[in-house]
Amino acid sequence: MKLLLIDDEAFALKLLSHQLAALGATDVTTTQSAVEALALLANRDERFDIVFSDLQMPGVDGIEFVRALAATHFDGELVLASGEDARIVQTAERLARAHGLRVLGSLNKPVSPEALQGVLKEHAERVAARPRAKRRTYGPDELRQAIAAGEIIGFCQPKVSMVSGALAGVEILARWHHAEDGLVFPDQFIDVAEANGLIDELTRAVLCNALEQARRWRDAGLECRVAVNLSMDNLGDPEFADFVVSALAQAGVPPSGLVLEVTESRLMGDVRSALDVLARLRLKRIDLSIDDFGTGHSSLAQLRDLPFNELKIDRGFVHGACRDTQLAAILVASLDMAKNLGMRSVAEGIEDAEDWNFLRQSGCEIAQGYFIARPMPMAALADWLPEWEQRRNDMGLGKP
Ligand code: C2E
Ligand code: MG
Ligand code: MG
Repeated sequence: MKLLLIDDEAFALKLLSHQLAALGATDVTTTQSAVEALALLANRDERFDIVFSDLQMPGVDGIEFVRALAATHFDGELVLASGEDARIVQTAERLARAHGLRVLGSLNKPVSPEALQGVLKEHAERVAARPRAKRRTYGPDELRQAIAAGEIIGFCQPKVSMVSGALAGVEILARWHHAEDGLVFPDQFIDVAEANGLIDELTRAVLCNALEQARRWRDAGLECRVAVNLSMDNLGDPEFADFVVSALAQAGVPPSGLVLEVTESRLMGDVRSALDVLARLRLKRIDLSIDDFGTGHSSLAQLRDLPFNELKIDRGFVHGACRDTQLAAILVASLDMAKNLGMRSVAEGIEDAEDWNFLRQSGCEIAQGYFIARPMPMAALADWLPEWEQRRNDMGLGKP
């Protein structure tokens, strides 16, 4: 593991080097100047795994360094170490992520051995996870064939009531069952579909698959709403609303059994056509959800203009909100707005009991996230339910 430390104070460098050596790091390079660090990083033969950078430095400061580091296409990990106010450090971290850098975390100076160990442990975990997350890019032809061959399948993730714990529905998340690569995630093929005119076929396949399963669940006595993700491009097709209505009829699922989730950041293209399709879907009594709320550029304008009846708060405002006053303020305001607009509120990214308690106490109606269940094959839902019933009881939620 090759480390690079940047800090204008010689003493801070020395201290951090000692601490890292005590934790077993043997290859540590130090520099007092960000400019020199960038020169080192520009050298192709020097591949650093982790760069530790101070924020407050004379000359090129930590923020400028982050920007320049991103420009070098640095593919290692970054740790920010600073004695500054936590909000400045958080902003710097977000900025680094926005630049596409991999941020391991930040350290408060003077650095505690525990915090340092935590960062190194996180690094080790990410490295261990890497070979699994073998990423390759897929071409349009391959994807077209996969859709036609039924290799795009839906996983499902439960949404539950925060009051009673009852199952409120499931979100269907596309997965590609790839013959060689195993399970491929949507971030590796949705963009490809959108860029190559395949998103209509893909959405239709996922939707029909979801509705068939909804039929089976209903036949088995499980009246569970299914939510399917749409892409902005689906809304450019004026026939889309009719397709959805006929797919519902064919599967024998009532319109109230379907939710369509639209990602807000993609709601920026042809607003007129989107408005037309969404208005017709609402007229047919299909629920519309504004997904990843808070992450796009015009959240409030979308809310004003489009007939959504569910607001899904992005996980970036949910997980950890109880420990972050800014997140909490945004979250509470979003929940309040949903309520005043008569919309159902859903929080995604509920990862632990703290998230659950905080959201519940803030009045959020529906929860989704790893704390409740990870996305699973649709056939696994029946096995998950009794397990959840047990936990629901243990948590003292409304007796079934
Ligand atoms: P999304 O609609 O916001 O879906 C939620 C994503 O968050 C899913 O990722 C889910 O696995 C993940 N997630 C759920 N709970 C947690 C949690 O507690 N913590 C964290 N960190 N993550 C959680 P996934 O399945 O990788 O999907 C990513 C995105 O791909 C989706 O975001 C959606 O925008 C898109 N997508 C998925 N399926 C389809 C589809 O059929 N059509 C279209 N157009 N987009 C899809
Ligand atoms: Mg979604
Ligand atoms: Mg989302």
